[in-house]
Amino acid sequence: MRHPESEMMSFGYDPQLSEGSIKPPIFQTSTFVFKTAEEGKRFFEVAYGLREKDPAESVGLIYSRLNNPNLEILEDRLTLWENCEAGAVFESGMAAISTTLLELLPPGSVLIHSAPVYGGTDHFIHHVLPKYGIDALAMYPGETVDTVKGRLAEHGWENRVAAVYIETPANPTTELICVKNAKSIATAFETGEKEVPLIVDNTYMGPVFSKPTQFGADLVLYSATKYIGGHSDVVAGAAVGSAELITRIKTLRTFLGNMGSPFNSWLLLRSMETLAVRMERQAATAEAVADYLKAHPKVEKVHYLKYAHERSEREGRILDEQYSSFGAMMAFDIKGGEKQAFQFLNGLKLFKLAVSLGSTESLAEHPATMTHADVSAEDKAKHGVSEKLVRLSVGLEHPEDLIADLEGALAQVGA
Ligand SMILES: *Cc1c(COP(=O)(O)O)cnc(C)c1O
Repeated sequence: MRHPESEMMSFGYDPQLSEGSIKPPIFQTSTFVFKTAEEGKRFFEVAYGLREKDPAESVGLIYSRLNNPNLEILEDRLTLWENCEAGAVFESGMAAISTTLLELLPPGSVLIHSAPVYGGTDHFIHHVLPKYGIDALAMYPGETVDTVKGRLAEHGWENRVAAVYIETPANPTTELICVKNAKSIATAFETGEKEVPLIVDNTYMGPVFSKPTQFGADLVLYSATKYIGGHSDVVAGAAVGSAELITRIKTLRTFLGNMGSPFNSWLLLRSMETLAVRMERQAATAEAVADYLKAHPKVEKVHYLKYAHERSEREGRILDEQYSSFGAMMAFDIKGGEKQAFQFLNGLKLFKLAVSLGSTESLAEHPATMTHADVSAEDKAKHGVSEKLVRLSVGLEHPEDLIADLEGALAQVGA
């Protein structure tokens, strides 16, 4: 098998079906014409699961809420990064997350999740899922099956666990969570009748530097708005995993109607051709940026994967096992508080002051008052989201120019 990088230009697309066009055209169409009534009937039988598909039979095109060539080619290429059976693309990362959780969590069940998770995910877990009688238990990095079981028992929830959900590295502090350990926690709640899937949000490091299915994840989710899209011009999401789980998720997607559009799928196909090159270059630049910040007298601490061994033996081991790079996301504590952080942010010229991440341009933001403004003071304190914390997403600018920009902005602090 070839490397995914080599397949991103052509996999799953036959130019001869599109006038020899080397790239897939945008199939900007809502519906597809059947050759005969019999063909239409056959396509629906497969699409609605009324009969098993013949091995040689391809799924017919019916209507763009069910399938579309741009969406299907993109889904096929996404599976290659982790060698998964199937993929599903959505109109946003939140659509991928919410559809997956609604499909896997029956009313009355319990979700175990890592903390902190992305703000939108946190809101969905704590303000939307309870409407369906679904409860949630936060688990902390390094927790064991026994401590999780003990806390579930306090609520009488031991028999209701339906899924485990983790986000690693955690946003914004890059704290690492062990996928294998999360899998063993999920497995501990399985019974003869009930599987407990492990879901991993892999937005920060995947799909190039982190492949959670290798460590037992059953489903891997993405905000494709971030590295996969990579140009700050599209909002999208994705899920990859076994054909069985993805089929369930796609079936719910059909009825929620939150599938990726032809144009957004086409944009993502274009982005995926350069995904590995972008991520590798961004990570190399980020390492230079992090080392510069670490040595700066106005910087108290840099939160970056390269320094995971200095944080704890546990995190160092996870870094070595789970990741093939330090990535391009970091955060740092500036000496002082909100005032100093804002002086720094207002002094940046090349870094753009914006939320989101993973794009070609470098971004900076203040988690405590922006991405994590919604988080309770108690949780902020627990997770190190302090007033002095600044988050950086390193892009494709020249490292010397980025460091010069940081230098200029740090000179503004306390000036
Ligand atoms: C941005 C983000 C999301 C949400 O994705 P959208 O595309 O904005 O809906 C989920 N998880 C993580 C880690 C993110 O960074």
